[in-house]
Amino acid sequence: MLPRAKSILTPLQRIYLDYAATTPVDERVLMSMSEFMLEKFGNPSSLHSYGREARGGIDAARRSIARMLNCRVEEVHFTSGGTEADNLALIGYAKANHHRGEHIVISGVEHSAVRSAAEALSAQGFRIGIAEPDAFGMIAPEAVECALESETILVSVMHANNEVGTINPLGAIGAILKPRGIAFHTDAVQSFGKIPVDVQALGVDMLSLSGHKIYGPKGIGAIYIRDGIQIEPRQLGGHQESGIRPGTENLSGIVGLGVAASLAESAMAEESNRMKSLRDELHARILDHIEDAGLNGHSDARLPGHLNLSFHGIDGEALLVALDLEGVAASSGSACASGSQEPSSTLLAMGVPRELAQASLRLTLGRSTTAEDVGYAARIIVDNVTRLR
Ligand code: PLP
Repeated sequence: MLPRAKSILTPLQRIYLDYAATTPVDERVLMSMSEFMLEKFGNPSSLHSYGREARGGIDAARRSIARMLNCRVEEVHFTSGGTEADNLALIGYAKANHHRGEHIVISGVEHSAVRSAAEALSAQGFRIGIAEPDAFGMIAPEAVECALESETILVSVMHANNEVGTINPLGAIGAILKPRGIAFHTDAVQSFGKIPVDVQALGVDMLSLSGHKIYGPKGIGAIYIRDGIQIEPRQLGGHQESGIRPGTENLSGIVGLGVAASLAESAMAEESNRMKSLRDELHARILDHIEDAGLNGHSDARLPGHLNLSFHGIDGEALLVALDLEGVAASSGSACASGSQEPSSTLLAMGVPRELAQASLRLTLGRSTTAEDVGYAARIIVDNVTRLR
């Protein structure tokens, strides 16, 4: 039999620059999970030693998350991920508090989990106000203030944007909302584990986070709910997670999330500096050859691993496919929106012209990214942009 020719679709080298979409599971996380799948597999509600062992794993994970968020352990509830946490925060809060008012404000750059939850509430009679971003994707406190009404009961503004990485001034927004008695939710799925996320400093009442963005498993996340905030559960059943999220716990997922969070916390300062310098190096190398590559997002108030660029005259999807053929995995817009031909609603809301929004490329760096990766990726990006133009 003849040896099979190597497919032209298999690049020699593969470089993953899509860490904002998801991350691989850290081996130490995997080890902790397998321990709770193979040995300490009990039902956390059981009273025997197997159950107690399992409960111990959940308690430890809750303590890790609570320490990082600077909240009480009872205020952390595990969910199936960021999407469920966002849904619980918006719909759960709105349902439990509609007697106080039926107006909710979200920002104009939210993830689809928040946007879709707000749309569902709008179909049920709630009115939705939008706080629009500035040209850097930032939600100014004044923009939130402008969107408020006397009936507003809840505001949801993400901590850091998934597409452009811009970090929002949540502390200043919280300071506007608190005296008015308006609850404040933030989607911290992209920021948790990468920059400090302290619920007291940020002044938030509810916060969503997810495991698979921080080298934990997919399908696990958590919601912080400040003591005293009323939420109507989205599903009914047992007593687990204080009844807010009933159902036998995803034991290994929760343990994995706890370990992933602790690892992210201990490496945060060093990793953040390393990532920023690699990201800026990647940007500089691209700019060396393509002077008009425009940065989308804030130059300083930005997640350390995020680089979103627009290359005029290029179709973003065509560029992505070309890069993939040469082994560079990147993204245009958010992962959930890619595949659709519509340009990113976040970029459009920021005032990026349609043509440039369609020509955008999101590169997100992570723990395994090296200086060699950055050099290789920059060369491939420059070559392909030049060729496509
Ligand atoms: N919110 C933001 C900002 C995200 O980036 C994502 C994931 O892409 C989510 C929510 C959804 O989280 P999950 O995938 O855990 O449901």
